This record gives sequence, C-alpha cells and structure tokens, in this order.
Amino acid sequence: MENQIKEIVGTYFNGNEIESVKVFDGKVIVTLLSTADDEKKASALKEQIAALPGVKKVTVVYTAAKAVSGIKPENDKWQIRGVKKIIGVASGKGGVGKSTTSVNLALALANLNLKVALFDADIYGPSVPTMLGYEGVAPISFDGKTFEPFQYMGIKSMSIGTLIDRNTPLIWRGAKACGAIEQLLTEVNWGDVDVMVIDMPPGTGDIQITLSQKIDLDGIVIVSTPQDIALIDAVKGVNMFKKVNVPILGIVENMSYYLCEKCGHRADIFGHAGARKTAEEMGETFLGEIPLHLEIRENSDNGTPIVFSKPESPHTKAYEEIAAKVKEKLKL
Ligand code: ADP
Repeated sequence: MENQIKEIVGTYFNGNEIESVKVFDGKVIVTLLSTADDEKKASALKEQIAALPGVKKVTVVYTAAKAVSGIKPENDKWQIRGVKKIIGVASGKGGVGKSTTSVNLALALANLNLKVALFDADIYGPSVPTMLGYEGVAPISFDGKTFEPFQYMGIKSMSIGTLIDRNTPLIWRGAKACGAIEQLLTEVNWGDVDVMVIDMPPGTGDIQITLSQKIDLDGIVIVSTPQDIALIDAVKGVNMFKKVNVPILGIVENMSYYLCEKCGHRADIFGHAGARKTAEEMGETFLGEIPLHLEIRENSDNGTPIVFSKPESPHTKAYEEIAAKVKEKLKL
C-alpha cells in the first residue's frame, strides 16, 4: 500500500518532496518536504488516498522550515505551547545511555508530582517509542494537522520516530531534520506541562547547534560514561551549549560501575567517577551516577523503564535523586 500511496503523492507533489509514507493500521501519515502553503493540493491528495480500500485516516505533515516574515529566523525561537520549562538531555557521542537517561529522568520528574512531557528528537536512533512501549502505534490527529501526544506511564510524549522509518534516519541532514523536529515539536497539543525533557540527537554538529538556538532551553543535562574518550566528547558538549548560552544543569555519569545482577559485586570497568571529576574541573554540577546493570538495559529495551516498572529499586532512587536536583535548579 505504501508504494501505491507514494505514486499518488507523486502526482500532486514533486517526488523529491516525499519524505516518507507510513501506514499504521489503516492510518496514513505522509511527510512532505514542503510547506503548508500547498494546502489545496494536500486536501485533494488526502481525498484520493482516503478513497483507497482499508484507509481510515490520512494526515499530511510538512517538514520544510517555515519562512517567518520580518523576523530574523536566528532570533526566532520555536513556539511550544503550554510548556513551562524545557530541558535537553545530550551527549557528546552515541551509545552512552542518553535515551535511557531521558526516559527514566522524565518518569522520575513525574514521580515528583510534575506534569511531564518527553520529546524524542534523536533522528539518528529514535528509541523513545520502544522504551515507552508505543513502537508502531500511530499518533492521533483530530484535525489532520496537529497531533495528540502519546500518554504512556503518566507522561506525555512524541517521537520523531513516528515520522521516519527506523532504517532511514541517517539520510536526514541539517534543514530537513530541523524542519521535521520543528513541525512535530510545535504542532503537538501538549496541553499543560511543567517540564519537557528533550532527548537530543548525540554529538555537537550543526543540527544540535540549530536545535539549541531554536528551542527555548532552560538547561541541558549531559550524559557521559566514565571513560576518557566519552568524557572528551562530554566536555565538547558542555562547551557547545555554553557557546549558544544554554545553561548546563549538570553531568550524569551513566554506566558508572558494573553491578553484577547475580551476586551484587561491583566492578569499576570503565574507571569510575571520571564524570564527577570532569564536572568539578569544569565548575559544573555533578548530578549523579547510574550503574551499568542488566535490569536497566532489559527494562529500557522492552518498553518497561525501570523507574516505572521497579519503583522501589535503588536505580529508581538514583534517577529520582537526579530529578530532584533538576527540579530544584529549574525552580519548579
Ligand atoms: P544513547 O541514547 O546514548 O544512544 P541508549 O540509552 O539507547 O544510548 O543506550 C544504549 C544501550 O545501552 C541500550 O541498549 C540501553 O538499554 C543500554 N543502557 C543504557 N544505560 C544503561 C545502564 N545504566 N545499564 C545497562 N544498560 C544500559
């Protein structure tokens, strides 16, 4: 069905404008590298797709950056309605546990009686849908333009992964990626939210810089492992965010030490406490440490993050301590 829909889209829009076509259980989401100015074409397109057998609902999303007249785009922050504070969770490189930290931190903030939203902007590997258990579930749109956030485990969330196929994110570059993130971030009906946690793409390139300039960030949490090589990247991350005037809330050391799930033996396989030392050297706050533990991996990879599934576990307490420091720094 996706190819058939792509052909129909091609008759209305130039084939280059088709970002992706996704079908979930009869609900179709067409993502176009275009602007909403093509509303006429889009409604004709929607009608034709809706007439296909088995199609229940069609949504068209535009990912081209919108031109804002009279305002210099660089000074123009994206309008994220209803959200009081926004924090980013970032890492200098991939694979250090940034998404695991984002999800568990968001859930821990909710445990502190805050209304929390989690936005997954990690175009290189959007893993929030898997971690919260809504992988493959279609987002709902009542008007075909704005989306309702997913509501799982007491928090609201949305992921860039709902627009892109798991195997295509790497082909997204600069403006395209930022256009898609802007579209989704600003056109979700977030409602009333105390704090939004954004799982940022890893690294310190153009996309990360643009996101930090366009999103009105109240602070950044940097995640690093204790290894020197990860710490070098974490330092780069801290410096990048400082350059664009985003406050650093602090550094979390993930996979801080290995905790054997059978005997409880602890081993500092990556050289424990490197992030604490780096934070101290840079004059930044050390927010806390999370061990490398099988339970954390299993629970995050099978859609039951530890803070939700094991509220009494010492790992949950560790995330809650980090969340309490973040809450205090944000004056929430
Ligand atoms: P990133 O977002 O930095 O790429 P992820 O959060 O996706 O990293 O984590 C990468 C992998 O490591 C995942 O399989 C995750 O479950 C696992 N992981 C992350 N943190 C921990 C931890 N503290 N203990 C055990 N496994 C972890």
